[in-house]
Amino acid sequence: MTDKNKEARHIPQTGFFGHPKGLFTLFFTEFWERFSYYGMRAILLLYMYAEINSGNFDIDKSTALSIMAIYGSLVYMSGIIGGWIADRLFGTTKTVFYGGVLIMIGHIILALPGNFTALLASMFFIVIGTGLLKPNASSIVGDLYSKEDARRDSGFSIFYMGINAGAFIAPLIVGTIGENYSFHLGFGLAAIGMFIGLIIFMLTKKSFLGTAGSQVPNPLTKENRKLVLGRIGVGLLIIIILAAIGITTGILTIELFILIVSFLGILIPTAYFIVMYRSKKTTDVERSRILAYIPLFIAAMMFWAIQEQGSSILTDYAANRTQLELAGFTIPASWFQSLNPLFIIAFAPIFAWLWLKLGKRQPSTPKKFSFGLIFAGLSFIVMMIPAMNGTESLVSPLWLVLSYFLVVIGELLLSPVGLSATTKLAPAAFSAQTMSLWFLSNAAAQAVNAQLVRFYDKDTELMYFGILGFLAIGLGILLFILSSKIQRAMKGIL
Ligand code: GLU
Ligand code: ASP
Repeated sequence: MTDKNKEARHIPQTGFFGHPKGLFTLFFTEFWERFSYYGMRAILLLYMYAEINSGNFDIDKSTALSIMAIYGSLVYMSGIIGGWIADRLFGTTKTVFYGGVLIMIGHIILALPGNFTALLASMFFIVIGTGLLKPNASSIVGDLYSKEDARRDSGFSIFYMGINAGAFIAPLIVGTIGENYSFHLGFGLAAIGMFIGLIIFMLTKKSFLGTAGSQVPNPLTKENRKLVLGRIGVGLLIIIILAAIGITTGILTIELFILIVSFLGILIPTAYFIVMYRSKKTTDVERSRILAYIPLFIAAMMFWAIQEQGSSILTDYAANRTQLELAGFTIPASWFQSLNPLFIIAFAPIFAWLWLKLGKRQPSTPKKFSFGLIFAGLSFIVMMIPAMNGTESLVSPLWLVLSYFLVVIGELLLSPVGLSATTKLAPAAFSAQTMSLWFLSNAAAQAVNAQLVRFYDKDTELMYFGILGFLAIGLGILLFILSSKIQRAMKGIL
C-alpha cells in the first residue's frame, strides 16, 4: 500500500486558484468527459426516436426509454471494474487515460451512420470507458491533498463545478447541432470533446499531477496475475459465447438484456452490503454504520431514479408535450437538459454559504437526504398540474424549468453529502471501493428506471408523475421520522 499522505508532498501544491495544479488537469479532463457524456445523452433518445420513425431501428419507443436507463445504470456499475483495474493493474492515471480513449472510440462509432448494433457497440465502449475514467479521476482529486489539508473539500467543490459546467454547455452545443443538422455530427462533437480532454490530460499530467495516481496501490503478484487474469479471460469468454449463442438463436433479445441489467443493478449493491456486513474485517461499530447507511442508500436510489429521468422522460416531454415555438424561435428539446447543471452552478455556492452560516445548527446527513428526496418528489408533483387539463395541447416550457429547479434543490441537499457520507460510513477495509459504492446508488436507480419508464406515455402521464412523486415524498417523510435513529446508528459520524 502506498502512503497517500507522503505522496501528496510530491505533488505541486499550488498553481490553480490556490489549489494544487493537478486540479487543473482533473477539472478539465472531467469537464470534457462530462461534456461528451451529457452531450451524447442530450440527443440519444431523440436520435433513437428518429431512427424508430424512419424504420431503421426495430424497437419501440418504450424500449428506447429503457435503453436510456440501462445505459446510465451500466455506466455507473462499471465503476467497480475501473476501481479494480486502477487498484491492481495500472494505477489511476493510466486507467483514466485508457478510459478516455475507449469513450472517444464509443462516440466515434455513433458519429458514423449505423444500425442498432452500432449503437450497442458504442454503448459498450462508453460504459467501460466511463467506468475506467470517472471514479478514478475523482479519486485522484482526493490524492492531491494530504489528509489534514483544509482545501480538500473546496477542491472537490471546484471539481463538481467542472462536472456541471461540462454538462451545462454540452446540450447547448451537441444538442443544437444534433437536432438541427445531424445527430451523427452531434455525436462527432462529443468525440471531439473527449479528444480535447485527453490532450489536456496527456500534456499536463506529468508536470501537474506529479506522482499522484501513478502507483498501483495493491498490485497483483506475479503468480496471482496469471491466475486472476486467466480466470477473468475464461469468464469473459463464457459470457461472449453465451451472448453469441443467445443472439443467434434469438433468445437474447434487447428486452431480456434490459431485464438482466435491471436485476444486476439491484443484485450488485445488495451483495456489496452483505459482504461488507459479514466480513471479518468489519468491526461492530462499522456494522452499525452499514445498517445506518442502508436507508440513506435507498433514499439516494429514489432520488437518482427521478433525477436521471431528465434525459429520458423529461426529454420526451420536452419534445412532445411542450410548446417549443417562442417568438419565431424553436427551442431544441435537448436544451432543457442544460437546466439541471445550470441551476447546480448557480445554487451550489448558496448552499455552501448556508451550511457555513448554520455551522453546527445545520441539518444532519439523514435529514438532508430526507429533504433532498422531498424536493425530488415535488419536481414530479408539479408536472401533474399541466396534465390536469388533459394531455392534448402543448404546455408552457416553464413547467419543465420549475421541475428542474426543484430537483436541483434536492440534488444540492443530497449529492454533495452523499459521497462523503459513503466514505465515512463504509468500513475501513472497504474504503477503496467507496467511490464505486456511491455510484451504485445511481446504477441501482437507473436499473429500476429501466422497468419504470415503460409505464410512461401521454395517457398515463398524470399517474406516472403522481405515483413516483408521492412515493419519493412518502419515503422522504419516513426518512425524516427515522433520522434520529439513523443518526444514532452512525456512531458519532455527522
Ligand atoms: N451528475 C453527476 C455526475 O455526472 C451524478 C453522478 C452521481 O451519481 O453522483 O457526476
Ligand atoms: N447535475 C448532474 C451532475 O452533477 C449533471 C446533469 O444531470 O446534467 O453531474
